[in-house]
Amino acid sequence: MKIICIGRNYADHAKEMNSPLPTEPIYFLKPDTALLKEGDFYYPKFTKELHFECELVVRIDKVGKYIQPKFASKYYSQFTLGIDFTARDIQQLCKEKGLPWERAKGFDHSAPISSTWVDKQNVDLENATFQLFQNGELKQIGHPKDFIFSIDQLIAYVSQFITLKTGDLLFTGTPAGVGPVQIGDTLTAALNGQELLSLKIK
Ligand code: MG
Repeated sequence: MKIICIGRNYADHAKEMNSPLPTEPIYFLKPDTALLKEGDFYYPKFTKELHFECELVVRIDKVGKYIQPKFASKYYSQFTLGIDFTARDIQQLCKEKGLPWERAKGFDHSAPISSTWVDKQNVDLENATFQLFQNGELKQIGHPKDFIFSIDQLIAYVSQFITLKTGDLLFTGTPAGVGPVQIGDTLTAALNGQELLSLKIK
């Protein structure tokens, strides 16, 4: 099982990162050891600037390669929410040196997800909203209709290079409002008002 993460899929987040809008999808991988399905998150020792990035997560439920956009919707049936934890200080160093991002993005438990999945027929992506709260305070609002690249486009693009397998996860990018977490924080995330994820930072 692998975790495929999309970078810069919302214009407002690209802007807050002072990054240009992508002309084709940007993706990177997290290993399976990044997944955190239950339990608390422990702030890693190697960073002083850990950021939350709340994202809509798609579960792949069929093996596929060279998937055409028009068939991509047959390869997933459920969504949830997850956090693409990012050691922003390390990512900045990686960017400056042109190094890969894995050290900043792919560490253990850097991909907590909800254990509750929502069937895609129950989520109208044109009208869906998800929210990230830090200690009860609203920090991020995401509207999947604002994706630069749709889920189907992302699946088609990534599957040109990587075979998608059942159980793979696709993190679809984060909207604006990313920020640092501290030990003692609680992050909660809701999709269309339904709380799916609650995570304590220890
Ligand atoms: Mg992200």
